[in-house]
Amino acid sequence: MRHRIAVVGAGPVGLAFARVLHRHGYPVTVLERDAGRDARPAGGTLDLHTGLGQLALEKAGVLEEFRALSRPEGQAMRILDTDGSVLRDWRPGPGERANPEIDRGHLRDLLLGPVDVQWGRAVTQVVPQGGDGVLVRTADGRQETFDLVIGADGAWSRVRPALSSVTPHYTGVTLVETSLDDVDTRHPDLARLVGDGSVAVYGVNRAVVAQRNSGGHVKVYAQYRTESDRRPDPAPRTAANQHAAPDTTAAAADADAVRAGLLALFEGWAAPVLDLLRRGTSFVHRPLYVLPVSHTWAHVRGLTLLGDAAHLMPPLGAGANLAMLEGAELAEAIAAGPSDLDAAVRTFEERMWARAGRWAGITRAGLERLVSPDPSQALALFDEVQPS
Ligand SMILES: Cc1cc2nc3c(=O)[nH]c(=O)nc-3n(C[C@H](O)[C@H](O)[C@H](O)COP(=O)(O)OP(=O)(O)OC[C@H]3O[C@@H](n4cnc5c(N)ncnc54)[C@H](O)[C@@H]3O)c2cc1C
Repeated sequence: MRHRIAVVGAGPVGLAFARVLHRHGYPVTVLERDAGRDARPAGGTLDLHTGLGQLALEKAGVLEEFRALSRPEGQAMRILDTDGSVLRDWRPGPGERANPEIDRGHLRDLLLGPVDVQWGRAVTQVVPQGGDGVLVRTADGRQETFDLVIGADGAWSRVRPALSSVTPHYTGVTLVETSLDDVDTRHPDLARLVGDGSVAVYGVNRAVVAQRNSGGHVKVYAQYRTESDRRPDPAPRTAANQHAAPDTTAAAADADAVRAGLLALFEGWAAPVLDLLRRGTSFVHRPLYVLPVSHTWAHVRGLTLLGDAAHLMPPLGAGANLAMLEGAELAEAIAAGPSDLDAAVRTFEERMWARAGRWAGITRAGLERLVSPDPSQALALFDEVQPS
């Protein structure tokens, strides 16, 4: 029996789910808000761990292709003191493939493969039909009913309100992201500073992290504690806007002002570290939001959430990994026992909640230590998790 299955969102979780189902011969409708695969920049690099993201890729049958595309040398990690002295300089040994890096765009294309995505189909609402399917409405005015709808639509999910009244809350930490292009020729000094992987500098309640992506592109993240972003949004929350992402783009509209603000915030740090911020051309303001550590909901037949929609957590290298594994595992569970779709989803949810709760706790505690009044905490955390 063929079920009508839809996944909302073609991010890492939606695509992992769709690709594994496709591998098992099951059709799935993928509804994605973006107008096309290149409608917006794909974002920075991701490190995919052996037991998580890489396992999902194995289930999708694309692990070998990932190995060819990924950058094991990108696992290199250097930690500097704020005066520029080197505190740690870890480089992966030959054959070390625990957490190789891959550009998000490459990962998306790898997972897309034969999956047919309906681009430009922003979901506005999902309505469970009392055990008789779930109605999905899209911004283009269309509506369709499915036996199972997966909300894989990220932090500000439009599917989540049908299952949970919880909305993400601000962590007290904000990232400002900038980037440098063609570093090896245009900024060779900074290329050496960043090396093949990442460089991180931790100070009191603030940090600068720079990561090499492929093609000489470097993403730089200034991170700091601030209460000025602790405002959900200036407009009163209404039923219509309560799940919308707060608009934070205005804060980064004037690049010169943002750059000057960051240079003042990090005043006194070593000149090469400040150059990472000084030479960035545009800035994106990203207050970090999270869902509660143990976010669960009363099961609703025909509907579930995966990835950031289910368990948004601080960006400490787990979110995409977990999301992809969830997508792959749920697809396998459906493929293994398609006669009782609801039982497969219910069992999966229990497992997802337990695992995601553990990771949410780890990443929340990690964020407290990485952007901390005591910067030695960041170094201690690195020493605890980094293979020696
Ligand atoms: C700066 C930063 C660095 C990070 N680094 C790492 C890392 O190294 N490793 C790691 O594992 N994780 C990392 N993460 C976390 C990771 O990015 C997320 O956990 C991951 O992208 C979640 O995947 P997802 O598919 O659940 O959601 P998303 O990636 O947000 O994808 C959701 C998709 O749904 C679409 N969508 C949204 N709304 C709708 C709608 N209404 N209708 C249809 N489609 C919709 C979106 O366009 C998008 O394509 C990082 C996060 C940040 C911010």
